[in-house]
Amino acid sequence: MNYHVMTLFPELIEQTVDHSITGRALKSGVISLNAVNMRDFSHNKTKHVDDYIYGGGSGMLIQAEPVWLCYQDLIKKVGIKNTRVLYMSPRGKTFNQSIANALAHNDNIIFICGHYEGIDERAIELINPVHMSIGDFVLTGGELPAILMMDAITRQIPGALGSDDSAIDESFYNGLLEYPQYTRPPVYEGLSVPDVLLSGNHKKINEYRQQKALEITKEYRPDMYEKYIKSVRNT
Ligand code: SAM
Repeated sequence: MNYHVMTLFPELIEQTVDHSITGRALKSGVISLNAVNMRDFSHNKTKHVDDYIYGGGSGMLIQAEPVWLCYQDLIKKVGIKNTRVLYMSPRGKTFNQSIANALAHNDNIIFICGHYEGIDERAIELINPVHMSIGDFVLTGGELPAILMMDAITRQIPGALGSDDSAIDESFYNGLLEYPQYTRPPVYEGLSVPDVLLSGNHKKINEYRQQKALEITKEYRPDMYEKYIKSVRNT
C-alpha cells in the first residue's frame, strides 16, 4: 500500500506515521508514505496558498491552483488504476472499520487535506474525490483524519501487525466489541483474573470471550448488538 498525502504540513504526517505499527510497516515495506507539500505548487513569490473568500466570511481558503497542480503531478506518477482519492471533509461519509477493510485492498490512496476554511470548490470539482469524514465535528485540518485513517487501514494489511490474526479478534471485526482482557499479575488490588482464562481450556476460553463480547456490545453499543443479533438470526 502506498499512501500519498497532499498537505501543507508534510512533517506532521511523516513524524506521526513513523511510529508504532505504522512506523514498523513503513520500515518493513508493507506501506510507503509520500507526503507532498501543496505549497510547492504555488506560483507566487511568497509561496502562499490561501486567499480571502469571495462573498465575505471569516478566514481564508486554500486556492484551487496549488491543489489541482499537486494532484495532477501526483496522479501522473502514481496512475489512476487501483488508486483511491479521498478528500478529508466534514461533508463525507463517516469513516468506520468496514471502510478501512475495503480501502486496505488498494495499491495507492491519495489523501487530500484541507486547512483554513477548506479548499476552493473548483479544485474539488476538478479532482472529484470521495469525501471522507471522521465524525460530526470540525478539525483545524485534514492531517489528523488522514493519519487516523492510515493507522486503521494499515492494521488491515497482511504483515502489518505482529501476528496476522490479531486484527480478527478486535472490536468491529465480527460486528461485536472486543471482550475484556487481562495480563499479569493474576490478582491486582484484590481483583482476580477470571478463572477460566487461567484454565488452559481453549474451548471454554472462546465461549467465555464470545459471551463477554456479546455482553459488552449490548451494554456499550446496543445499536451494534441489535444488528449483530439480527444478522445471526438471518444466517
Ligand atoms: N469550513 C469547513 C466546514 O465548515 O465544513 C471546515 C474547514 S476545517 C477548519 C479545515 C479542513 O479540516 C477541512 O477542509 C478538512 O480537510 C479537515 N476536516 C475538518 N473536520 C473534519 C472532519 N470531521 N473529518 C475530516 N476532515 C475534516
